[in-house]
Amino acid sequence: MHAIGCHLSASAGYMGMIRTAQSIGANTFAFFTRNPRGSKAKAEDPADAAAAVQALKQLQFAKLVAHGSYTMNLCTADPEAREFAAEILEDDLRRMAAIPGNYYNFHPGSHVGQGTAVGIEQIAGAIKKALAPGYPVTVLLETMAGKGSEVGGRFEELLDIIQAVGSDNVGVCLDTCHVWDAGYDIVNDLDGVLKEFDRIVGLDRLKALHINDSKNPSASHKDRHACIGEGALGVETFRNILQHEALAGLPMILETPNELPGYQREIALLRSLA
Ligand code: FE
Ligand code: FE
Ligand code: ZN
Repeated sequence: MHAIGCHLSASAGYMGMIRTAQSIGANTFAFFTRNPRGSKAKAEDPADAAAAVQALKQLQFAKLVAHGSYTMNLCTADPEAREFAAEILEDDLRRMAAIPGNYYNFHPGSHVGQGTAVGIEQIAGAIKKALAPGYPVTVLLETMAGKGSEVGGRFEELLDIIQAVGSDNVGVCLDTCHVWDAGYDIVNDLDGVLKEFDRIVGLDRLKALHINDSKNPSASHKDRHACIGEGALGVETFRNILQHEALAGLPMILETPNELPGYQREIALLRSLA
């Protein structure tokens, strides 16, 4: 069975998310580790986390894909703000230890005029510092649309960050809307794009997918998600994704503009394409 789920609200805790996931046919899910537009994190609940670890195992869920806050910019120009972002990353990774063995995905950052090379260096430095050796979490860099000064719109940039960190616990989460918006033609040549990813980064580093249609044409660098089949990618692209052998075991997370009933329908749709 494919590992398919969606983004869920963390307000009812891990057990709440597991129950919601089950009710909509999901066997993985994503959630924000803290306020996505701010930095505030929920109080930790060790009992909830411990119960979740047992439940996830018992229910045979695939790995979860936590999402860092959008405001965490590891390569912002202001040193104090950059240090604050690095502390947020450290705290998030420490929190992930309560549910060991799962993924922590985040947007690498925006270099805000400092240049891509400087951005890459600052992002890698922060990860290196936060990712203590032996930490039970794998950090996933998200492929970005290349909006503004975003780092991570090119596979080469992701490789540079991975190499600079130099840890096995760093991988990539490929967002279908973002790579399309960045100019990778997964509609007409999914296999070619994955081969390019393999050649540059290596498919062994690809750990998860964000499954989104896109409101915009390829290379638009816009990053506006659409519901599955209602955007430029179309259902056939998702059929190819669900049937591609290189992607078969990876957690696939919907981040489409939906409430739970819509997610339930899309999860069923994706399963029917597999
Ligand atoms: Fe994201
Ligand atoms: Fe995403
Ligand atoms: Zn996006």
